[in-house]
Amino acid sequence: MLPKDQPTQLYRGRFAPSPSGDLHFGSLIAAVGSYLEAKRHHGEWLLRIEDLDPPRVVTGASSAILKTLEQHHLYWDHPVLYQSKQTKQYHQALKQLATSGLLFGCHCTRNQLKEHRLYPGNCINAALSLDYHAVRIQAETMTLSTRDPWQGVQRWPLKQAVGDFIIRRADGVYSYQLAVVVDDYLQKITHVVRGSDLLDSTPRQIYLQQKLDYPTPLYSHLPVAGGRNGNKLSKQNLAKPLNSATAPQNIFQALQFLGQHPPQDLERSSLTTLWQWAEENWKADHVPHQPMITVEFR
Ligand code: GLU
Repeated sequence: MLPKDQPTQLYRGRFAPSPSGDLHFGSLIAAVGSYLEAKRHHGEWLLRIEDLDPPRVVTGASSAILKTLEQHHLYWDHPVLYQSKQTKQYHQALKQLATSGLLFGCHCTRNQLKEHRLYPGNCINAALSLDYHAVRIQAETMTLSTRDPWQGVQRWPLKQAVGDFIIRRADGVYSYQLAVVVDDYLQKITHVVRGSDLLDSTPRQIYLQQKLDYPTPLYSHLPVAGGRNGNKLSKQNLAKPLNSATAPQNIFQALQFLGQHPPQDLERSSLTTLWQWAEENWKADHVPHQPMITVEFR
C-alpha cells in the first residue's frame, strides 16, 4: 500500500500545437504553463502535433515547432504523437459512439446554419452512414461542470450552451473535439493545461469522454495573450514568430506574463539558469485569474 498522500497515478500533461504556422508568444504561454505544472507534480510532459486538418497545415511548421521548443529547452517525454497518423483510432471511437444512438448524419450547408447559435436540429432524424457525410452527436440534457484553478467554477447546460456538435466533417476530417479526446485518452493525459480560448471546448470533450467511457482529466485554463486590438494573439492576426535567438528573454517574459517574478538579472542569464529558477519557484496560484491579458510588446 502506498502512503496516503502519495499520488497513485503519474501526472501527465501535454502541449498540443496545431502546425498552422510558427510558435508565437501566445503559444509559448501554454507551453511554459503546462510544462511547469508537469514539473511541479514530478510528472511527464508530452507533445502532440495537431496536424489533423490538411488545409490548415503549413508545410514545415511541425518541424519548426519542434526545433523552437528545443531551442527554448522545452524538452518533451515520449515520442511525439501526430494526429495525422491516428485516423484508425478516431474511426474506432466514432464506431463506439455510434452504439450510443446519439449520432446522426448531417447534410446542412454552412448557409443553412449561419443564423443559428446552436444547431437547429434539421437532420436529427437522418439515418447515420459512417462512411459519408458529416456526423453530429446529440447533446443530452445535462449540466457539466469543472472547477478551473484560474478561471473559476464553470457550469455548462449542455443542450443550451453547446447543442448538437460535429464529430466528423463532411470532407471526412474528424473534428478537433473527437481527436483531442481520443488522443488525451491514448496518451494517458491526467491534466490538461491550455489557453482560456479553449474553455468552450471543455464541455464537448467531457461529454465525449463520458460517452466513450474514458476518464476525464483535470482541466486548467491559463490566461491568453491579447493584442492591442483586444483579440487573442494568434497566427490569424499575425503574431510574430518566436525568435529563438532571444530564447531566455522569451521565457523570462512568459514567466512574467504567468504572474511569476523572476529576478531581473535572470533576463540576461542562460536558459539553464532560468529554467532552474522557474522549476524551483513556479507558483501556480500566482497565475492571474483572468481569461486574457493584453501584451504591449508584441
Ligand atoms: N491544437 C490546439 C491549438 O493549437 C490546442 C488543443 C488543446 O490544447 O486541447 O490551439
